[in-house]
This record gives sequence, C-alpha cells and structure tokens, in this order.
Amino acid sequence: MSSSDTLRSRLTRLLSTDTVIHECRHCGTTCTATDSTCPVCDAPEIVTYRF
Ligand SMILES: [Zn+2]
Repeated sequence: MSSSDTLRSRLTRLLSTDTVIHECRHCGTTCTATDSTCPVCDAPEIVTYRF
C-alpha cells in the first residue's frame, strides 16, 4: 500500500485542471460558481480567479 500514488494522482489532477476560485470582493469568502451574490455579506461583487 503506497500513499505516493494517491498523492501523485492528486497533484496530476491539480496541475491538469484549471482551478477557478470565486471569491467575494467585499469579505473574501469563497463562493461557488452559481453564487451571484456573497452568501455571507450579500455583496454582489464576486470575483473569479483562474489559475
Ligand atoms: Zn462577502
């Protein structure tokens, strides 16, 4: 049993998939792609970061 295989597959997935972060511009809460307003502070400014 090896944990390195799992780690490697996780890293590969991370590196091969675009990571998209939706974050409230007002309070910094991480939101989902379907949120049009922040679930915490109700600000309508959700910014999207793509890595
Ligand atoms: Zn917010």
